[in-house]
Parts: sequence; C-alpha cells; structure tokens
Amino acid sequence: MKKTGELNLAVFCDFDGTITKPDIGDELFKVYGSFEPYHSQLKEGKLNIKNYWQKVCSELKPGTNAEIIKKFAEDAEVDSYFREFAVFCEDNNIPLSILSDGFDVYINPVMKKLELERISIYCNILKFCNGSPPVPVYPYASESCDCMCASCKRNSMLNNVDDDTVIVYVGDDYSDFCGAEHSDIVFAKKNLAAYCNENRIPHYPYSTFFDILRIMKDILKKKKYKIRHQAKIKRKQAFEAE
Ligand SMILES: [Zn+2]
Repeated sequence: MKKTGELNLAVFCDFDGTITKPDIGDELFKVYGSFEPYHSQLKEGKLNIKNYWQKVCSELKPGTNAEIIKKFAEDAEVDSYFREFAVFCEDNNIPLSILSDGFDVYINPVMKKLELERISIYCNILKFCNGSPPVPVYPYASESCDCMCASCKRNSMLNNVDDDTVIVYVGDDYSDFCGAEHSDIVFAKKNLAAYCNENRIPHYPYSTFFDILRIMKDILKKKKYKIRHQAKIKRKQAFEAE
C-alpha cells in the first residue's frame, strides 16, 4: 500500500515494437498469412481495424495454430532492458500493465518467457476452433473513442487508475495515440514521437528501456512529476463520454 505523500504512479506500456523489437502482429501475418493488400488498405482508411484483423486472421495458412504462433513469438527479439524495467516497477510498487491492439496468442508466450506472466495485459483475443480459421475477439473495444483501435488503450488505462494517479505511457505507434493523449508522463519513439511533436504533447524521446529506466529512477528520486493539465481535461471528457 502507498503511504500518504508517496508518488501514485502507474505505467502503461505498448507491446509490439515497444517491448519487442519487431512488430510481431505484422510479422506473423507476413510469414503465415496475407499482410497485403490489407495493411495498405488499413493505412489508406479503406478498411477499419476490426475488418483488417478479421481479414488477416481468416487468411492465416491452414494449420497455423496457437503452438506455431507461440514458437514464432518466442523467437522475437525483446528490448534488453524491459525485464529490468518491469522488476524496477515491481520493486517500487508501481503497477505496470501492457496495452496492446495485438493478440494474447503471441503476447502471453513472450511474457512467460520473460517470467513476467503476472503483469496485467489488455489486448485482443484470437479464438481457435478446430478446422476453421481463428476468430478475433475484442474485449476492450470502445464506441466512444475515435482512436481506430480494436482494443482502446485509453479505456483500459482509465478503468485502472485513481483520480490522483500520475499516468506514465510508453509507446511507439498509431495505436498509442489515444493512450498518450490521456497520460501525464509520455515516453515516445517513432510515429508516436512525431504525433506528440505535432500535437504538442510533452514527451521523453527514448530508444530503449535503458533510457526509460534512467528517467524513471530520476523522477522517483527527485519526486519531479506532475499531473499534466491537458491530459487531466481529456480524462474528464473521456469519463463523461463513456
Ligand atoms: Zn481509444
């Protein structure tokens, strides 16, 4: 339990391209299915994300089962400092959750391999039934957010914080936009960093969890943190819209 006056931080972290170096969700369908033309259609706005997942999942090569996907995921390179970061959070009583618009079937094996299976994961589910292609299920879909994700990171985040929580967000891509907008401390690289720059969202650029670990240690030491006013307004609006 937190004592009065202690920081009330919570960290939310993207998976593909953030914890793992490759985007497993993209690579999986490149190797075992039909990534294109669907991915281009998604980027051009001709397919929405749910239809995109529907298409690529239904066109996985016959016989692509959970076991094959597990092995594929276990081979993916992980940020060398992620495990140390996760242990740092645990040692400092900072809840760490993973928010992903990808699937349990490849995220869980990576977390298990890292011996971090106790971390909460909010993502889509891929259901396998004998003989037919797997079916995507979206337990965290949101009607009210315009984030274009099948698993809305904003909502998963806001459902798991208190009013006084200082929200830390780590991400790299499109699916992180709504999460970052509603967070107080943002770590961003690639497309997310560009988005933060365009939208004047203050953020720490990073290249690996080594950088994040260093800055988080500094934040804890100096207690140098504050609720971001714009994010707080956005959180209030989100609660009202739900
Ligand atoms: Zn959203």
